[in-house]
Amino acid sequence: MQRYSFWSLLQHSFTGNSGWQAAWRNAPLRSSYDVVIVGGGGHGLATAYYLARKHGIRSVAVLEKGWIGGGNSGRNTQVTRSNYFYPESSAFFDHSLKLYEGLGRELNFNVMLSQRGHMVLAHSAHELDMCRRWMNSIVMNGVDAIMLTPEEIRRRVPILNFRARYPVVGGFIQPRAGISRHDAVVWGYARSASALGVDIVQGCEVNGFLRSGDRVTGLETSRGRVSAERIVLSVAGNSTVLANRAGLRLPLTTMALQAMVSEPVKPVLNTLVMSAVIHVYVSQSDRGEIVLGAGADGYHSYAQRGGVPQLRNTVAAALELFPCFSRLRLMRQWAGAVDITPDTTPIMGLTPVSGLYINCGWGTGGYKAIPAGGDTMAYTVAHNRPHHLIAPFSLERFTSGALIDEGAAAGVAH
Ligand SMILES: Cc1cc2nc3c(=O)[nH]c(=O)nc-3n(C[C@H](O)[C@H](O)[C@H](O)COP(=O)(O)OP(=O)(O)OC[C@H]3O[C@@H](n4cnc5c(N)ncnc54)[C@H](O)[C@@H]3O)c2cc1C
Repeated sequence: MQRYSFWSLLQHSFTGNSGWQAAWRNAPLRSSYDVVIVGGGGHGLATAYYLARKHGIRSVAVLEKGWIGGGNSGRNTQVTRSNYFYPESSAFFDHSLKLYEGLGRELNFNVMLSQRGHMVLAHSAHELDMCRRWMNSIVMNGVDAIMLTPEEIRRRVPILNFRARYPVVGGFIQPRAGISRHDAVVWGYARSASALGVDIVQGCEVNGFLRSGDRVTGLETSRGRVSAERIVLSVAGNSTVLANRAGLRLPLTTMALQAMVSEPVKPVLNTLVMSAVIHVYVSQSDRGEIVLGAGADGYHSYAQRGGVPQLRNTVAAALELFPCFSRLRLMRQWAGAVDITPDTTPIMGLTPVSGLYINCGWGTGGYKAIPAGGDTMAYTVAHNRPHHLIAPFSLERFTSGALIDEGAAAGVAH
């Protein structure tokens, strides 16, 4: 792999930047692999990378029906945090944040992690109590979080409207949280996985499974059949459709989740601000755009909101908190199909179908989980037993009742 550095940039500038290698090989599909991963999003690519790097399993293919990162991994608002409520989620998401903290160096790819803090606002005495409880739980789980008075919030975010319909009475912040560049995360994992021998096959749709008894032995794809000892599904909003074809029913609802950005402006907001009550989260990208996100739009919710589109609600909520953005023009708006579980915790690990592993149910928050998702899934596939950090996220919790309801810590998202 051609290393990226100041010297290589300088060297290539003398030759008109014509000597750069492709970042990853566009591999042809072989007829058989040890492991096939379906889905070239962040989770699929990270799983492939850690399988090759940590477990020495290099006969691995990542099959992607479109282009890598074309799913939710390239469509999200890049929020990277670990301020969850329950110990199981905290341990997993903080492992992910720690991996993010070293990811640029690990992958030799600048993922542009900017730890600018993630601030949660409270708008009533009751909500402030809930924030205190949430913050205490985060700290007890060994993760960083601090309560903020309205004065401290004002110092950090002077442009915030404190006299909004629901006034700001306090909140808390996770200082280590922030954003990173989603395309860079996808490309960085793809490049390093490819350098370790992983085949990345784009434009290859998986349509069905080959089986022998209760075991999957391969896949039917748009490029022909491929056999595999182990198969991992990492297809986010397509999980139910594909798992069904393998005879597996998943407790998932697939919904659209939107985000939008304004035209770019000079730096005005150097932290992420989230309000569950006013129902929006806002940040400023490195390019200067104001990035807005809110909850998933269920198919029924348009009617429930009296026919008001999600976009209008989200913009109205953002302007309630930041009236000074009212003259900005909205530049782009898009959506992705997210897979939501009843307890808003992911489903990861082995399945009742031998040889088939699942990584899904990320809902609105799986970007921040990419490094830990890849790391723990790789371990699980390599050892055919769940990594201890994801053992609580197994499919069995829906029959045992050991649910991990992170609905509140999912912020505005669900
Ligand atoms: C608008 C929006 C904002 C978000 N904001 C955040 C955020 O701020 N922070 C956060 O943590 N998370 C956020 N998320 C969620 C996050 O983006 C996802 O949870 C995460 O990217 C999921 O990664 P993945 O690799 O599992 O799925 P994806 O990146 O969606 O990858 C799955 C891939 O599988 C491919 N595929 C599907 N079916 C097949 C098939 N049959 N054959 C072959 N390939 C197939 C798809 O083409 C896709 O590329 C957001 C999501 C959206 C939509």
